[in-house]
Amino acid sequence: MNILVIGAGVLGLVTAWNLNEDGHDVTIVDKIGKYAGASHRSFAWINANHKLPESYHRLNAAGVEAHESLQKEFAAQGTWFHQRGCILSDSTSDAQENYTARVQESNEFGYPVETVDRARLLELEPGIAWPTDTALFFPKDGHLDNFTFGDLIDDLLAKAGVDVGVREVENVETTSSSAEVTFADGGVESFDQVVIAAGAESGPIAARSGLTLPVASLDSPGPRTHSLLGITAPTEVALSRVIISDRINVRPRSDGSMFVQVPPVEHRTEEGESTELLEEVRTVMEESLQELFETAIPVDEVVFSGRSFPEDGVSIVGYLDDAHRIYSLVTHSGMTLAALLGRLVANELDGGKEELLEDFRPSRFRHGIVPESSDSFIGKQ
Ligand SMILES: Cc1cc2nc3c(=O)[nH]c(=O)nc-3n(C[C@H](O)[C@H](O)[C@H](O)COP(=O)(O)OP(=O)(O)OC[C@H]3O[C@@H](n4cnc5c(N)ncnc54)[C@H](O)[C@@H]3O)c2cc1C
Repeated sequence: MNILVIGAGVLGLVTAWNLNEDGHDVTIVDKIGKYAGASHRSFAWINANHKLPESYHRLNAAGVEAHESLQKEFAAQGTWFHQRGCILSDSTSDAQENYTARVQESNEFGYPVETVDRARLLELEPGIAWPTDTALFFPKDGHLDNFTFGDLIDDLLAKAGVDVGVREVENVETTSSSAEVTFADGGVESFDQVVIAAGAESGPIAARSGLTLPVASLDSPGPRTHSLLGITAPTEVALSRVIISDRINVRPRSDGSMFVQVPPVEHRTEEGESTELLEEVRTVMEESLQELFETAIPVDEVVFSGRSFPEDGVSIVGYLDDAHRIYSLVTHSGMTLAALLGRLVANELDGGKEELLEDFRPSRFRHGIVPESSDSFIGKQ
């Protein structure tokens, strides 16, 4: 089949690569270029941690496993998936209750978790001045070098003769035999199938095509759709894995720097992006890093980062139209799910039906949008 993938973020790239592997004639376009959206400013914690409901947990757990397999398959190309686990530390007065609930939930789902004491915390992360005596350790979690991963898939595509074209899609119309795509440059081209993987802008593309795809708009910023992501200078301070807490989230990057988020300032995304805000947040991040590592770590940059957030919080994967020519692929757990969804979507475009995706079909919105539950899970990604 002749298939167009709209968007060269992590999801579009992996999907295009899988479709090409299956022998399809694939075109991939991005209005700006590879990794221009959320994929290039993602914390990229790979996890199935407190992903509810259970079917969403199962999808994310399979996502973690898909990264494990892909990393093994392409080990000679480098390391991008670091499965060193995640430590969750809660210093609030509800910590004990929260830990108990999380351990119970993880046990019910069969997702490994360990309650760790101070000695074990120091063994795992000796560079941290731990604010709590106990924490939870999730050994299956990890983090992804998002750029290394994107480059790997882009290289595999290029070797197969598929390059990302810089082109903006205006809309898609279906006929009985094809999907007619109109580009912003005025061109019109015909494809057998189209995959909309344009992140936060997938909703507007669908709307211009007369279809419904409820993805939160980035026009009214807030903690649901945006995050303040800090990037530190490279540092000698030891950090091996993802740390999630009510005060600060950190994870190592391959060049020795770290990604940082400070949950108590996330609400300030409501103010919208400004130089003053980014400067103030940079100061708060440096103070929080000083507290956590008891040493100064400069923050080089703070990014006001928009997510691709389905209105009800869980992935939207499946055909949008009755003729089955326009397929949607939007999720805010895109780093965790990329390796898995790329394969499952290709299987479905080949005519298969993936049971893991059944709860995430766009058809659920025919009955309206059930908003996401107001669960204030720390570090929710
Ligand atoms: C701060 C932050 C932290 C995150 N943390 C995590 C995490 O810890 N774990 C996790 O799993 N996920 C995380 N995510 C989410 C994850 O990064 C995203 O789900 C993922 O990157 C989405 O990838 P995508 O390919 O769908 O979209 P994007 O990366 O946004 O790519 C969409 C692409 O479509 C292009 N496009 C848009 N409109 C058009 C058009 N009309 N025509 C052509 N091209 C178009 C854009 O230019 C863009 O390049 C985080 C996101 C953010 C912002």
